[in-house]
Amino acid sequence: MPEAVVIGSGLGGLLCGCILSRSGYRVTVLEKGAQVGGSLQSFVRGGIRFQTGFHSVAALAPGEPLYQVFQPLGLMDLPWKKVDSPDEVVVNGVSHFLPRPADVPALKALSPLAYDIGTDFSEEAGTSAARWLSAAGLDQEIFLGPVLRLQSPLKEVSLHEYAHISYHFMNGSYRLEGGGARLVQALSEQIVSRGGSVLTRKEVVEITPAGPGQCQVRCADRSLYQGICVSDIHPQLTAALVQPPLRPSYLKRLSVLSNGTGIFTTYIKLKPKGIRYLEHAVSIDGMLVCFDNPGPDGFARSVDLMIHVESPVTDREAFARTLIRKASARFPELEQAVEQFWTSTPETWERFTGTPGGSAYGILKESGQLSLCVVSPRTPLPGLFLTGQNLGLHGILGVSYTAVRTCSVILGANVINELFSFAP
Ligand SMILES: Cc1cc2nc3c(=O)[nH]c(=O)nc-3n(C[C@H](O)[C@H](O)[C@H](O)COP(=O)(O)OP(=O)(O)OC[C@H]3O[C@@H](n4cnc5c(N)ncnc54)[C@H](O)[C@@H]3O)c2cc1C
Repeated sequence: MPEAVVIGSGLGGLLCGCILSRSGYRVTVLEKGAQVGGSLQSFVRGGIRFQTGFHSVAALAPGEPLYQVFQPLGLMDLPWKKVDSPDEVVVNGVSHFLPRPADVPALKALSPLAYDIGTDFSEEAGTSAARWLSAAGLDQEIFLGPVLRLQSPLKEVSLHEYAHISYHFMNGSYRLEGGGARLVQALSEQIVSRGGSVLTRKEVVEITPAGPGQCQVRCADRSLYQGICVSDIHPQLTAALVQPPLRPSYLKRLSVLSNGTGIFTTYIKLKPKGIRYLEHAVSIDGMLVCFDNPGPDGFARSVDLMIHVESPVTDREAFARTLIRKASARFPELEQAVEQFWTSTPETWERFTGTPGGSAYGILKESGQLSLCVVSPRTPLPGLFLTGQNLGLHGILGVSYTAVRTCSVILGANVINELFSFAP
């Protein structure tokens, strides 16, 4: 049985592990952290389970892009729930519910782009989304910021990224009962049931060539693994692990890519019957508000307030209180409903996922130079492949596309086309 070693157990790593195990590989996933899942991890504080990088997804209706990846992998059997109301955007105290693209002629025209999963970008795909919206007469405040869900800097966002993320979110979002842990469990179980393993506290510290198309991977605890290798960690970090070093031109190419900003999150435990559960996400002047842990009484037990930050936050508690006040403009009962809160910063994110600077979505896919920002799954070291949000689009949809693209490079397009009904 051929061996595959996957570095990092984020969604990208687990999806590649799952697809490779279906294709006859014995897969070993090596995760440096104590928990599997990367940005899909959750944690418990005050008896409440909080999600970190997974609140809702889009494009999950039959025929839509995420469905086309998840359905063949059995992931549509998980308890997904369609959110009935559209996402809400509050600008200067006024709430706007996002329309469906089908109801806005200009947005409707984005449909071909939203379904185009290739990486040969048209000139249109690489244009600035902000400029495109202005030309289409659509208010950027309403249409740009919220649907890209914390992406920053917004002026760099390309129409390609906009179409792939906002178009689908405007068509409807979905939440998963039990959160990201359900996805992690389903994917891990598939890998293990086919003879593989998913191991935690296995920090990879070195990757070396080991025969034709094979790599040897060494962990901090000195354990060694060999096979084809798929890295779900940032390409610059992956390259730094390779010995002897990869060719200078490749390292230079990676070094010029910049990362997006990180996110500050305030995780709030709400008092019982403190505030009613709201299924849809609300964006308030760039801050994303997501309620969670609904009780049978219709009240939420937690809410996360997320905002991107450009520089380190020195007084976390004071900053969190500012965000709570900001959210209170839309939810006047919030301040009274807070029982306890905790925070995370980009530094926290960097510590847990390793992403440089704690960038939320990794390498920026800048308009105007989109093709340059997309990293190939191939590396100069035969047998070493890349996957994850840094290669293409971020988010559950983007990472899923990329996992299929990575596996297509490894297994060949024919194998992938048998499993998925679209060509990457
Ligand atoms: C606050 C926040 C909220 C979000 N909300 C949503 C949402 O609601 N919907 C959505 O679609 N997307 C959301 N996203 C984006 C989404 O979570 C990510 O795009 C996606 O999960 C990234 O997956 P990944 O596999 O690329 O990487 P990661 O999840 O970062 O996984 C990388 C893994 O590699 C491990 N690793 C690092 N170095 C090593 C090493 N040397 N050895 C072994 N393992 C290592 C890390 O510990 C980590 O587990 C959110 C992101 C953030 C930051």
